[in-house]
Amino acid sequence: MSDPTTFEAVREEIAYAFDNTLFFRKHMEACGLRPEDIRGPVDFLRLPPTFKSHYRRNFPAGVLAKGYTLNSPHVMRFQSSGTSGERLNSAILAYDLARRQATALGVNRRFDELWRPGSRPRICRFAPPNCSDVECATGFSTMEDRTLADGTLVLTVAHDLLATPEWQIVKALDEIELYEPDLLVVDPTHFAFLTRWARRLGRRITSPRRLHMVCGYTLMTRVARRQIEEFMGPELPIGDMIGMSELGYLGFECHLGMRHINDRDFHVEFVRDGEPVADGETGELYVTTKDDALIPRIRYATGDHFTPLGNPCDCGSDLPLVRIEGRATHMIQLADGRVVTPGAVDTLVGDAPGLDVYKLEQDRTGACTFRYIPNAEARPDDTAALVQRLTEALAPNPVRVEAVDYIAGERSGKFQPCVSQISAEGAR
Ligand SMILES: [Zn+2]
Repeated sequence: MSDPTTFEAVREEIAYAFDNTLFFRKHMEACGLRPEDIRGPVDFLRLPPTFKSHYRRNFPAGVLAKGYTLNSPHVMRFQSSGTSGERLNSAILAYDLARRQATALGVNRRFDELWRPGSRPRICRFAPPNCSDVECATGFSTMEDRTLADGTLVLTVAHDLLATPEWQIVKALDEIELYEPDLLVVDPTHFAFLTRWARRLGRRITSPRRLHMVCGYTLMTRVARRQIEEFMGPELPIGDMIGMSELGYLGFECHLGMRHINDRDFHVEFVRDGEPVADGETGELYVTTKDDALIPRIRYATGDHFTPLGNPCDCGSDLPLVRIEGRATHMIQLADGRVVTPGAVDTLVGDAPGLDVYKLEQDRTGACTFRYIPNAEARPDDTAALVQRLTEALAPNPVRVEAVDYIAGERSGKFQPCVSQISAEGAR
């Protein structure tokens, strides 16, 4: 990451952002810095990170580079749900998005055949409604209403996932069949829910084309993955995407199941308490764009935490390996000062064959409640072992474990497996 050619790209991006965006010029000037002060990686750490809130407040005039408007050629505009349900407006150049996607997907040989020259994959999306660019994804809309400019069909889904009525499930299953996609872009917890219904209704999810699946939007739990793999079979290539709507693909899962971060199109840092973390330690991902002419971002604090692993992967890709830990606003904060990440909670739960879906929630007092929906495979011994693992991992805080038949999603329309009121309220 301190590779001199990479750092030259970072210096160029800083100079470009300073010269061409009002926000970043002010940001640097506020701490008495100019681009020529950032000569190397050590100076770079003097630059305060930039946050989502900066971009929200200054969009579009303060963050779009000189010479661009939202109507310039190749500019794609979109809105997405923020973590708190607040909407983020942003824009991205279509070719930057495509380049980042190609780099990320390049780590997975099972996705090689998806993008052939001259052919565009047919994409169906089944994801939380706020992420879906179409306001009508929750209503009684037609397929045409929910087809985006690039041809992607957005399937209808209820705002509160587990309250989705049967007619809406049937509609989603029918539309996949009609649309004949090559690629399903899904939220894994949402799609696992769809597979449970499909099983109950005696339906299959197939396409005459070779299907692929990209998972994103929320943490892919092992429980969701187990259900997707069982239902769809081993022939389906599944890749877990690391991404943000405002930046596109930040990384992808390789064909060996490891997560690689895209350090080719971005300069990446993992930071805790203002310092870079060592391999094996958890830090927040900061990204600096390379050659982003539209909205250059310098040390953009993503709010997503990762553990850089530091070892090479047998898949052959040289993009660095990371473990996904989850969002800052979802971390469980224990009374003894330790933090348990959503990724760590998911490792504790495992693929849990007796469980359809789970959610661990920490309230303001620090107490944790683990709710889960059991299925026919549930065995008392497994449950007891899970209770013990959770109790030990979350001590000294109290944990209550409850089997339930319904769990509410977030107000944003996402379903998060791990949330904390303490962390959410400490959010910037
Ligand atoms: Zn790999």
